[in-house]
Amino acid sequence: MCGVVGILSTKKQIAGELYESLIHLQHRGQDAAGIMTYNERFHVKKGTGLVRDVFDEQNMARLQGKIGIGHTRYPTVGGFSIEEAQPVLTSVPYGIAMAHNGNLVNYSELAREVSQENHRHINSSVDIEVILHVFGHALDHPVGNTAELSFFDQICQGVEAVFNRVSGAYSVVGIIMNKGMVVFRDPHGIRPLTKGIRKNEDGSIDYIFASETTMFYTLGFEPSGNVLPGEVIYIDESGAYNRKIILKEKFTPCIFEYVYFSRPDSIQNEVSVYRSRLRMGQNLARRWQKQYPKIVPDIVIPAPSTANTAALSFANELGVRYSEGLYKNPFIGRTFIMPGQENRKRSVRYKLVPQEFEIRNKNVLIVDDSIVRGNTSREIVRMIREFGARKVYFVSACPPVKYPCYYGVDMPTREELAAAQSTTEEIQNQMGVDILMYQKIEDLVEAVTRKGEHNINRPCMACLDGWYVTGDVNEKKIDSLEKQRKRERSHLI
Ligand code: SF4
Repeated sequence: MCGVVGILSTKKQIAGELYESLIHLQHRGQDAAGIMTYNERFHVKKGTGLVRDVFDEQNMARLQGKIGIGHTRYPTVGGFSIEEAQPVLTSVPYGIAMAHNGNLVNYSELAREVSQENHRHINSSVDIEVILHVFGHALDHPVGNTAELSFFDQICQGVEAVFNRVSGAYSVVGIIMNKGMVVFRDPHGIRPLTKGIRKNEDGSIDYIFASETTMFYTLGFEPSGNVLPGEVIYIDESGAYNRKIILKEKFTPCIFEYVYFSRPDSIQNEVSVYRSRLRMGQNLARRWQKQYPKIVPDIVIPAPSTANTAALSFANELGVRYSEGLYKNPFIGRTFIMPGQENRKRSVRYKLVPQEFEIRNKNVLIVDDSIVRGNTSREIVRMIREFGARKVYFVSACPPVKYPCYYGVDMPTREELAAAQSTTEEIQNQMGVDILMYQKIEDLVEAVTRKGEHNINRPCMACLDGWYVTGDVNEKKIDSLEKQRKRERSHLI
């Protein structure tokens, strides 16, 4: 899970806006950040850590240009060093820089092909480098009479080569030296890529492409839909806009963007994340009332803060008081995206403090967005018990997460996933709760797709139902990917 942004302006320097955008995408990755701009040459600053720690006045002053891309990173593939930070660059052909959000299913095979057959040097273990070289190689070897091909035709050939060779999830923003900005999204549209426009006084238009719409308002951009699945958009330096759908499969965006990743103020694929979370809480409460009509908790507490919205509508639906009985220290990172199991466990108690007045002698119902590894949920329950709750009920706005994600989210092996290892009853006992209830898959899908002018065919929910939308993830592939992930994890922990 990462955040990407690309901005092209015909009028102004954009480094400051890229920086602000990354601040608004910080929740998608806290491992590293980078910005690359172009103004006769590429200018780059990358570093490990938070956006505010990577950039300062001096290095920002170097980032000259009206076109640029930025990235916040959490490592799902690759190591944990500055070499793995994005954007990445190749000098052949033209000079191309790229950043992406996503994950490749066939990274290892492609990395071998790219270096042995295409004779391109891979300098890191991040999968955007492979995409960059597949695209670059195709751009360097156009098919047909080059005199008759426009530059956009050649870009389309490059993206087509990516779609033909690269399997997985990828939303890409890029700059081609002396030419313009190119963006594309995989044919299933698994990872998000939103689009915004800003009209200048002289009628010219600035463009922004980003993982979420969270910075649009601040920067004065109007939301203008999404980069569509299988679509490529190319805008040259003068602002001329070209687009084409190269290959379209069923539109299956990641359902976890709504459950957990995206900020609640984002609009993803024409669906409000906030509204979808309200509906998740509502559906969950209705299920609770059906299953436990006689059990009414005294208070409903969210596991802060992603679950706040679902907990609010859950409490409303039940007619029970919503309570912020767990205070979250906002200056500590999200545990789910901190690499390493031990770090995750330790950080829960630093991050969350129970409020005794709200909890003692009460029957408490905790709403969480999901239970992935189960460590955070167990710690939360332990703390609520320690502060004197009489009964503790736990509900998850997401159904059991049973399968690894190979499309850009850190759910690496079945061994680490609570619901892949144990039944609901066993997890209930391990957590020490009186009742554990999960959302049903159909209720979650309904919550995401009920409203909005979206064209989602069916969200990706491979981590819930084991159906991998790219069609090439079978038991053998899972085994080999899990081995690969375990090797990478052993370096991180
Ligand atoms: Fe999202 Fe799960 Fe699909 Fe991964 S497998 S893209 S987390 S829905």
